[in-house]
Amino acid sequence: MANRTGAPLPDIPGCSVELDDSGTYHLTHHSGRRAIAYTERQVILAGMALGALATLTDKSPQEFAEAPPLQPIGPPQERPEPAPAAIVWRPHVPRSPRPIRVYGHSCCRAYEWCCEAGQFFVLREGEHGRLEEAGRGVYAKARQVWDELLAEHARTHI
Ligand SMILES: [Zn+2]
Repeated sequence: MANRTGAPLPDIPGCSVELDDSGTYHLTHHSGRRAIAYTERQVILAGMALGALATLTDKSPQEFAEAPPLQPIGPPQERPEPAPAAIVWRPHVPRSPRPIRVYGHSCCRAYEWCCEAGQFFVLREGEHGRLEEAGRGVYAKARQVWDELLAEHARTHI
């Protein structure tokens, strides 16, 4: 199954997943219980919840089908912000005497996912071998930059 952009929808065991024009995912578990979600992560969590509910309940399929869909806490406008358009690279200046911890790298090591003194960032080798970093900050902020770079890298891979 694919959405209108051609990207595959999350594959959730026991569930069908559809994406409507407003960007809302609709899950229907084979038990009849439904859920809605606004992000792929919520789809995965909702799928797990539906599976658990179907296993750990004495409700009939009929009761399931009549129950309101599970939905994420909070209104739809609390979806994650779209990633910022431009990623800013700055010269990497070590902030800790301890070595940087590298937790991951892109397929051809163009980018590295790093942690230093409790801050996360993406590292790359810029011109003349100088290290540059982007997205420095808390995990969620840096991770968004990392995910975006990896997606971009995959799209432009030759
Ligand atoms: Zn690569």
